[in-house]
Amino acid sequence: MNISSVANKKKRIAKQVVLDAIVCDALAKSFIFKIKGHSGFFSCTRCEAQGVYKCNRLCFPAIDEKEENRTHESFISKMQEKHHLANTEMSILINLPNVNIINVFCLDYMHLCCLGVTKKLLKLWLFLKSKGPKNVRITSIKLNEINLKYSKSKHVLPLISLGNLGV
Ligand SMILES: [Zn+2]
Repeated sequence: MNISSVANKKKRIAKQVVLDAIVCDALAKSFIFKIKGHSGFFSCTRCEAQGVYKCNRLCFPAIDEKEENRTHESFISKMQEKHHLANTEMSILINLPNVNIINVFCLDYMHLCCLGVTKKLLKLWLFLKSKGPKNVRITSIKLNEINLKYSKSKHVLPLISLGNLGV
């Protein structure tokens, strides 16, 4: 090894990094973004629709034409003040070059689908707490069949606990 090769190793090398996505759950996203939590009326990170309470839960019904999509620029300018936490500075992530802060964050599959829609469907099918219509309920005979099949294949499936459904 000669002196010039040692010098080359110490050279700073600039690499271009492309940030495709930031993946985190809704709670972490609101913490990082410094915005209202996912149960807030103006919590949608993709549009400026106001949520409404229906059946004891916050919903974002069909998006109205007049609702604006949230954009990088509208986020930075805090156009919808109620979306942001009060008396906080803007997230430092807005300083990332060439990053659209709205599109870089993935939607939270766990809270939106698994703990939202899927949990509700399971409660309706299994007639837990909120009794669903009779035509969608799973009979106890069918439920026993499902449990039996699940028991036989549980060594290859993740553990499911009905306790997590709030039962
Ligand atoms: Zn929305």
